[in-house]
Parts: sequence; C-alpha cells; structure tokens
Amino acid sequence: MAKKQFKAESKKLLDMMINSIYTNKDIFLRELISNASDAIDKLYYEGPEGMSRDDFYIAIEPDLEERTLSIIDNGIGMTKEELEQNLGTIAKSGSLEFKKSLEEGADDIDIIGQFGVGFYSAFMVADKVTVVSRKFGQEECWQWESEGADGYTVFESAMVGHGTRIILHMKNNTEDFNYDDYMMEYKIRALVKKYSDYIRYPIQMEVTKTRPKEGGEDNEYESYTDIETLNSMVPLWKKKKSEIKPEEYTSLYQTKFYGQGEPLRTIHYSVEGVSSFSALLFIPERPPFNYFTPDYEKGLQLYSNGVLIMDKCADLIPDYFGFVRGIVDSDDLALNISRETLQKDRQVKNIAKNIEKKVRNELMNMLEKDRETYEEFFTKFGLSIKFGLYNSFGQLKDELADLILFYSSSEKKLVTLKEYISRMKDDQKYIYYATGKYYDQIENLPQVEMLLDKEYEILYMTDDVDDFLIRILKNYDDKEFKSVSTGGDLGIEESEEEKKEMTQKEEESRDMLDKMRGMLGDRVKDVRISNRLKSNPVCLTVEGDVSLEMEKVMNSMPVKDKVKSERILEINSSHPVFESLKKTFDAGDDEKLRVYTSLLYDQALIIEGLPLEDPVAFSKHVSELMN
Ligand code: ADP
Ligand code: MG
Repeated sequence: MAKKQFKAESKKLLDMMINSIYTNKDIFLRELISNASDAIDKLYYEGPEGMSRDDFYIAIEPDLEERTLSIIDNGIGMTKEELEQNLGTIAKSGSLEFKKSLEEGADDIDIIGQFGVGFYSAFMVADKVTVVSRKFGQEECWQWESEGADGYTVFESAMVGHGTRIILHMKNNTEDFNYDDYMMEYKIRALVKKYSDYIRYPIQMEVTKTRPKEGGEDNEYESYTDIETLNSMVPLWKKKKSEIKPEEYTSLYQTKFYGQGEPLRTIHYSVEGVSSFSALLFIPERPPFNYFTPDYEKGLQLYSNGVLIMDKCADLIPDYFGFVRGIVDSDDLALNISRETLQKDRQVKNIAKNIEKKVRNELMNMLEKDRETYEEFFTKFGLSIKFGLYNSFGQLKDELADLILFYSSSEKKLVTLKEYISRMKDDQKYIYYATGKYYDQIENLPQVEMLLDKEYEILYMTDDVDDFLIRILKNYDDKEFKSVSTGGDLGIEESEEEKKEMTQKEEESRDMLDKMRGMLGDRVKDVRISNRLKSNPVCLTVEGDVSLEMEKVMNSMPVKDKVKSERILEINSSHPVFESLKKTFDAGDDEKLRVYTSLLYDQALIIEGLPLEDPVAFSKHVSELMN
C-alpha cells in the first residue's frame, strides 16, 4: 500500500516537535488522554439526545509481551477523511475548528488543545503508532498507521463499537531510557494521577490485586484482576465551596503539596471575565527547609481544564509570596504552551496579577481579624515579604509595608507600622528603631535607655535585612525612620535647662574631646557629649549611610573591600567616668588619657558586638586599672 506523505510543513514540524518542543517524554500520555476526553466531549455535546456521561470511558491497556500501550475511548471517532485531516497535518487542530464552530450556543463546552501537535508526542515513546477509529453512527472502521516523519497509511479495519483505539508500539529500551516503564502499572498510575487526575471521564485499567484465598489458610493469598478507575475525575477546585468538606482541602494539601498538618490558610475562588480561572491556594503551615535558599523553586500548578500543563509555574506568583502552594485552572490556556510562551501570555499575566492581589488581601484580612495566626505566619514567612520590599527598591511599599511587623519595646509584641504611628507622642517626629541580634540585647543597648526612659516606643529589629529595608522605605505615613544609633539630633524632647547644660558641657569639654579624637585616629569621626545616655558611660553612634549592623552584615560576605561606618564615640557627661576623664585631662596626664580613651572605645565596641581591634591591649589596660 502506498504511503502518503505528511504535508511538507508537517514533516519539519514533526521532527522539531519530537526533538525539541517536548523534552519531557512523560507527557505523551497526558496528550492522548486529553484527546480521548475531547472526543468523548464531542460525542456528548454533538451526538444524539439522551446520552449520559456515565456511558463513557477511557481505557489504558499495557501489553508488555507485545510491547504496546493502547489508549482507548468510546468517543466520537474519526472517518477516513478525518484521520487523514487531523492526524496527517500537524498544527491543524480539529479541536480548534470544532470549538470555533460551536462558539455560539454551547457554553458548557471546553475542549482542550488549540495548538495541534499533541497527538504527535506519541512518537517520543513509540516508533510506530496505529490508530483504529470508527466514527459514531457509521459502519466503516479505518486504521491509520505511521512510523514517524516519513508518512502514514490508511486502510479499512475492524473494531467493535465507536470511538478510537491508539496503539503505541513502544520504542526499544536504550541505555539512557527504559521505555518498558510506560507499560508498568505503577508508572501509568503515577502519570494519570499527576497529569490527568481531573479528566471528567473515568480512566480505567485492568490491575492485579491480591486477596485472602477463599477457604485457604490465614496467610494464603490469591491474585485477581479488577478494572480500576485511576483518576479522581472531579477537581476539588471546580466543586462548589459549600459542597466541600474541610477534610477534602486538607487531604489535597497533604497529598499534592506534601503538607504535614493543616495549612495556615486555604484560599479557594474563581474569576469569570477576560481571564477566567479557578484557583485553590494554600498558605503552608511552615516553610520548606530550603525556602530561604536559591534551591527553592516557587510556583503554582497550572491546569488547562483539568489537565496539568505545568507543575511549578513560577510566573503565577511573585517571589515575595513564593511560599504559596496551589493550583490554577484556566480553560483559556493552550495545552501545549511552553515555558517561554507562557511568560509572555497575557492570560497568565492577568491571572498572576489577580492572584497576587487576592493573597495580599487575604493576608491583610488575617492580620485584621485573626492576629494570632498572622503573627504565626509572619514569624515564619515575614522575611520573604521583607525581601520583596527590599528587592523592589521600595516600589512595592504601598502593597507590602502594611503586612510587615516589628517587635515593639512598649507593647512587647509584634506591631504594625500603622499601630506604631497611632501611638506616637504628640510632637514625636520620628519612628525610632534599634537593630541587634536579640530583643534582650537591644533592650540593654545604651542608645535606647534615654528614649525608653522618656517613654518613646522603639521598634526592635533583629533580621539582617531590616537595616537595609528601612533605608529603602525611608518613611511611613510621612514619618521618617530614625535609628537610635544615628549620630546627632534624635529629636527627643528636651527642657530648656537640659539643652543649656548640654551646650555648656560641650563647650567646656571641647579641648578634651578633640584630644581624645586625635588619640583614636581614624577609628572614629568624632568624640562627643551624648544626649541619649543615662546610666551607661559610652556608646557608638553613626553618621552617614552605613550603619553598624550593615557594616557587620556586609563585611560577613565574601567581598574584597570592607565597608566602614562613620563612627562617633559618645560619652555620658553625667557619669562618674566623665569626671575621671576631666581630672586626667586637666592634670595633663596624656598617657593615662590615652588608656582611658582606648578603654572607652573598646567598651563601646563590645556593647555593639563588634570585634576589638587589639584584645590583648584591652586586657592589659583592664588589669592595670585593677592594680
Ligand atoms: P489537538 O488536540 O490540539 O486538536 P492533537 O494533535 O492532540 O491536537 O490532535 C489532533 C486532532 O486529532 C484532534 O483535534 C482530533 O480532531 C483528532 N483526534 C486525536 N485523537 C483523537 C481521538 N482519540 N478521537 C477522535 N479524534 C481524535
Ligand atoms: Mg490534543
């Protein structure tokens, strides 16, 4: 029998497709099953009245001995012409034409595949494909056969009933790939579960099971075969919310997304409009172990009408909500869409925008109505949102700043910036914050003492990114952020008397302070009388863009040029130590003043958790004092 050639452009396409479009061989089964499902849809919607969905099925028949895998459906089938038309021309999608023809009138119809190369994915695993088909309501049955790009044959055949049987003559195993796998029960089960679980017709397979042998001993078993439906058919997200039990969500969360317990939040909604879709999203109870590493792969599962297109579609969710797991199902997407086209796809962009907003609103809602859960959420995932804000250079401030919590000195718990602002003193100019490793350590910093004493609220920040983040945020609700370690005016309310005393002391001590600065060399930018110390003798503050925390973080990274903050040594003029300094200076004992200065500086370093430049000298100086 003469072989017919594929149309010229088809041949090229076919080669290209087999070799490059699909790199994942597994998806051939998904494609063939979705075609079978389409064919049943067609009969169900186009065929005679009175047909029931229950009359239809898709069957999978592996045969390891013959090395074939058959996919059978009792859908509409194809005539000889249709076999040639639909399978002889790639990129001509029968489904698309059918869908167009039905554009008006039928609204419950959704047929997948608008691209037309799905069927040919069979050639990734088979070196020969046989299609036997009988169009519904016709006597004739036809067989189409092809061994790939060099053409196909069509001849009359025989088959009981209407529909299509696709027989894949599987490729021989190679060193790299075991095609036998595709004829194994476990593999077929897994592929159906993964890609075709929500096909709405039963996907059936004969499976081998064991049971206790009748009349046998206790431990005697026999095997028997049974027809099993491999897919769960109705996607949970397509059911009405009111008909879903909470356990069903939990079960899906645990089986599909490896959740351990209950998700913190389940978001289930659908949208009708320019981009129609359903989404079922979970905020997990905790981040996966690698969440904050580059190994973590964010993304949502993307389905086109119940068929899985992509396991982790990163474009559907922004990085800062990368912890969200779940499913998006849209009928408007082509089944064979590739990662590259997906990125540019307008539908996907619209869906992603909608999801971002939905998740944000849901978190806002949690923050307002279920504070405890939100704080739990924030403790685990807050860093992700902080990074989002930071990485956007503040562009996402409106979207994300309200979702951020900081620990408050006065409330002793996490608070929002809004809450902070609402509690500010009448003439308070700044949002005060202090950074460090632990809340306790920050609480004991000399820099916070005076502020706390005057009952200012301070935000305690312990994440490495915080200091950087604040620099990007700059302000919130028109109030500027101010680190308690910023040199100069802190904007604390002071009485006239206090102010006068400060200036006077400053003037009186100018010579001594200058001398001390000279002794410290380029370690500090200045030595000053402090306006923020109470019981502590010294502290370090900083001027310029680099804070002490930032210096620590940046210098812990493997960079060649170390950054250095502009440090200021502040001295408490009400402390007995100050009197000693003065006495020493007035007596002209430079050597002693040098030791005292260096000791004070070293103390300030220790308080900040910074390394001493010369620990041995420090130890020697302390011992000398004790003599
Ligand atoms: P698409 O599904 O996107 O149309 P495919 O390459 O997957 O493209 O299939 C090409 C065409 O072949 C289908 O549109 C359909 O008309 C026909 N077809 C494929 N499989 C079947 C089947 N099992 N029963 C009936 N028609 C089929
Ligand atoms: Mg298809």
